[in-house]
Amino acid sequence: MTKKELVQYVEDHRDELITLVSQLIQIKSENPIGTQRDVVDFVEAFLKDAGIEYKETGCNPDYPCVVAGYGTDMGFSLIINGHVDVVPAGDLSQWDFNPFSGEITDTQILGRGTSDMKAGVAGVLFALSLFAGKQVPLHGNIRLHIVSDEESGGQFGTQWLCANGYGEHADACLVAEPTSMNTIEIGQKGGLLLKIKSYGKSAHGSLGDFKGENAILKLSKVLSHVSLLSKIEGHFSERQIKPLMDSKLLAERENHIPGLGRVIDHVSTNVGLIQGGTRHNMVPDYCEATVDVRLPIGVNKEEIDETLKQILEISGVEGVEYELQYKSDANFTDHEAPIVLAFKENAEHLLGKEVIPAYQWASSDARDYRKLGIPTIQFGPSNTVGIHSYNETVQIEDVVTAAKIYVAAICDLMEIK
Ligand SMILES: [Zn+2]
Repeated sequence: MTKKELVQYVEDHRDELITLVSQLIQIKSENPIGTQRDVVDFVEAFLKDAGIEYKETGCNPDYPCVVAGYGTDMGFSLIINGHVDVVPAGDLSQWDFNPFSGEITDTQILGRGTSDMKAGVAGVLFALSLFAGKQVPLHGNIRLHIVSDEESGGQFGTQWLCANGYGEHADACLVAEPTSMNTIEIGQKGGLLLKIKSYGKSAHGSLGDFKGENAILKLSKVLSHVSLLSKIEGHFSERQIKPLMDSKLLAERENHIPGLGRVIDHVSTNVGLIQGGTRHNMVPDYCEATVDVRLPIGVNKEEIDETLKQILEISGVEGVEYELQYKSDANFTDHEAPIVLAFKENAEHLLGKEVIPAYQWASSDARDYRKLGIPTIQFGPSNTVGIHSYNETVQIEDVVTAAKIYVAAICDLMEIK
């Protein structure tokens, strides 16, 4: 089959693809609650039906990984990755529809995981089954990585696959995470957890202003200066300036928040957790806060450490210390890497508009592949509104177009004319 025929096949069989998304939505796979067994069984049954050999692997039987492949050892080796776990539906009364019905309307598929990211998973499964089912001769191979742990950190999923040789000799990777059809993710921020601990002296609460040392008040003085961290700017190379500028413009345009572009190239902080004190009538002798700190490209732990020392000094309090728990570096793929260009060209052709390679603020499994030096992109259908929130949906048209783009880009990378 030619590239054109393969893309047309997706169009002609769009109902199968839509049904596949709906079926995946109907299988509960909330993480960390619930089980991933049912959704993994479904993926395995799908592969079996398509005549594709697969292997279940991983390090935690509650969060298995499934790997499969098609093609030859010669040529371009492309990993396609998707996670089948979803964040919990949460308060059901906040939903306008049953999050697990997988209902298909005229324009949308409804439910938890439609955008993040069962539509993307359906797209890569559909693409692989098409190439394998039609025995399309590839100059290279497609390697499927389906994981069931992404939403709780990914240690049993992609992280494990990458640490255990499954990324070896790959030339590129597509993570089918939600990006919308306007952008291809080519980089993301890193992060660390900052724990600030404040020590005081206990006393009777009735002597609050006269005796003891209030650990909560001391900590609050430090917290009021934590936003100084957000003044730290990333360090981008000359080559990265264009994608950086594009990313900032895109972020503001898509989210309608003036100034939001700053989040791409600056540190951001979120004081997310605070714990302290024992009772209202005791002067608290201990309080701690946890701050989520996100790092733009080029900013390391040392730079954060330096500014934190300044913050403590400015706050003028004694008996406050901090700990930094490093999570990941910011990471990126060159905006003209072959995988980026293959997706950009085909996306623009099929969508009839510009599709922008961009850096984003959230992090994902893409970092694990990039850590191995594999040029990696994220690209998948999504409606941003309901992701990790209520009323999650995806546009049917985007699901179909994304699958066509996957197929077309694979054709280019594997020399199918
Ligand atoms: Zn996701």
